[in-house]
Amino acid sequence: MTFRTRFAPSPTGPLHLGHAYSALLAYDMAKENGGEFLLRVEDIDQSRARPEWETQIYDDLAWLGISWSEPVLRQSDRLGVYSGALDTLWEHELLFVCHCNRKDILNAASAPQEGSPMIGPDGLIYPGTCQSKPRTSQLRPTDTALRLDVSKVAEWSASFMETGQGPEGQTGKINITDQEFQTQVGAIVLARRDMGTSYHLSVVLDDAAQGITHVVRGNDLFEATKIHVLLQHLLGLPTPTYHHHALIRDDAGKRLAKRDDARALSKFRADGYTPADIRKMIGL
Ligand code: GLU
Repeated sequence: MTFRTRFAPSPTGPLHLGHAYSALLAYDMAKENGGEFLLRVEDIDQSRARPEWETQIYDDLAWLGISWSEPVLRQSDRLGVYSGALDTLWEHELLFVCHCNRKDILNAASAPQEGSPMIGPDGLIYPGTCQSKPRTSQLRPTDTALRLDVSKVAEWSASFMETGQGPEGQTGKINITDQEFQTQVGAIVLARRDMGTSYHLSVVLDDAAQGITHVVRGNDLFEATKIHVLLQHLLGLPTPTYHHHALIRDDAGKRLAKRDDARALSKFRADGYTPADIRKMIGL
């Protein structure tokens, strides 16, 4: 099997030093292993994605000396694939309709008998409000949020190989049990009302479609990997090896954000820095 890595930015702002680190690390790993590096544009959030940011991604990566071996995969071209996977999960009765907004969830999760609200990889752990409501239609609705009914997933356990490190130094074989998933992750949203899919569902289907064997990304997504591994199990997809890396931080120790224009690659370029300078700054 060809060793394949990918970089999967969202075109919602300029790439910064943290993106350069992730992209170069994935690119270098592919080259060192005689493999391939692929690019995916994660543009399912059409309210935030902009064509000019997508163009800038191509320019910045080319400037860094990164090339990709297949045409770019754009998530906005794959809505039919995401919809098909949702149909499968719906037919297996693994999804439920959820009408709660953020405030409803916060109120239910903070009710006195619940203790303090628990936070999972996707924010507040869903308190279960809509979970046991019966279906009003056999057809999968496409205009509401759909959550994964973790209580219906038959007993399972899974694991993934971590060759980098989670935020607390987690490495090697990482085990996940259904019990842990129910309490620490909960009924996550798989189809958002405004996009008809979700980051988690799309990323899992796309990594499989692109034949990615090694996912290289920031350790802010380490906990979300538990969701990805469960979805791979439910959809019959392979689980790649994961390599989570530390995040690049500014001098004050704060993680870089897209609104941090000062750290944008285009700014360094305009100021006369070279790709070699960037590599040195991020320790590659
Ligand atoms: N699109 C995500 C981001 O820009 C990355 C997702 C991933 O690497 O799995 O943060």
